[in-house]
Amino acid sequence: MKIPVKTFGGGYDIILKRGALLEISKYLDLERKVLIVTDDGVPESYSKAVASASKTPFIITLAKGEKSKSLESFALLLKELVKNGFTRTDCVVAVGGGVVGDLAGFCASAFMRGIDFYNIPTTLLSQVDSSIGGKTAIDFEGVKNIVGAFYQPKRVIIDPDTLKTLDARQLSNGLAESIKMAATSDAELFELLKKEPLDIDGVIYRSLLIKREVVQKDERESGLRRVLNFGHTVGHAIESLSDLYHGECVALGMLYMCSDSVRKQLIPLYERFGLPTKTDLTKDKLDSFIRLDKKASGSSITVVYVDKIGSFKFEVLEIK
Ligand code: NAD
Ligand code: ZN
Repeated sequence: MKIPVKTFGGGYDIILKRGALLEISKYLDLERKVLIVTDDGVPESYSKAVASASKTPFIITLAKGEKSKSLESFALLLKELVKNGFTRTDCVVAVGGGVVGDLAGFCASAFMRGIDFYNIPTTLLSQVDSSIGGKTAIDFEGVKNIVGAFYQPKRVIIDPDTLKTLDARQLSNGLAESIKMAATSDAELFELLKKEPLDIDGVIYRSLLIKREVVQKDERESGLRRVLNFGHTVGHAIESLSDLYHGECVALGMLYMCSDSVRKQLIPLYERFGLPTKTDLTKDKLDSFIRLDKKASGSSITVVYVDKIGSFKFEVLEIK
């Protein structure tokens, strides 16, 4: 399936296809120097599949985890590009989750003011969320995503077969973002999420349609794109105070920003997917963190509130 995404500069396609990784040269121009960026939690066979289809491949395998989204890794990638004589007509390919995608995309945006970037997201979170929208970044001085660029990929290849090796908790981490999109924007996707067994390809497809719609309307995050922050204000607070995964924190965050009837529909889904339904953090503790949220402006903060599945409104919270 091909999902075209329009951007200021033109656009790119997302290819959603089982088995795409095994026939990757059909979809990407790899007849050049190719820097493949992956991490050591991603099965090696995925980056090798890209390497064996490339004319002149170079693989960089980072340590898995958020720590790799650093200036040091950024420099390491750039050094590899310079050392191996990459030019403007060569390319960078990310094979992994959002960490690898954000870092490799940022590196591609900066090298020679931008070379081709292909993204092959292999976690559910990166397939439904981070691989589309053109945000690339690294963390710096302890602040997440503080240095980065809007830089669109040349193509995104989503092969749901890669999810076979992903553990259940990581899968649920991504499902939380799909639940978020369903809750605010697509009651049909919400129904699809409730169906057993889970139609993961369908969930990825519909989630991508929603994210595409939002980012096409608001490429630079000036308004509508904030709908994607549903659950994230409280979620970020929980994230900084616990060891839970991002999606798990967002799941909890959504419970604070919806009506009772929506909450009653969310909880059974969370239970089925093993997402948390409760936190022992007190409201005071969370409030003090919310004040620090980057979206806070003066004494008020805009949040996304869901009254009914498939719809949302922006609400201004006064913070004392
Ligand atoms: P991640 O990249 O750390 O991947 C999670 C873990 O799964 C890693 O250990 C990785 O090695 C492993 N893994 C990846 N693919 C696998 C597979 N197929 N099988 C087995 N293991 C696999 O985490 P993530 O949740 O994918 O991404 C989180 C990052 O994405 C954060 O840095 C976040 O800031 C970023 N993000 C960016 C955007 C954006 O718009 N650019 C949006 C949301 C999140
Ligand atoms: Zn998120």
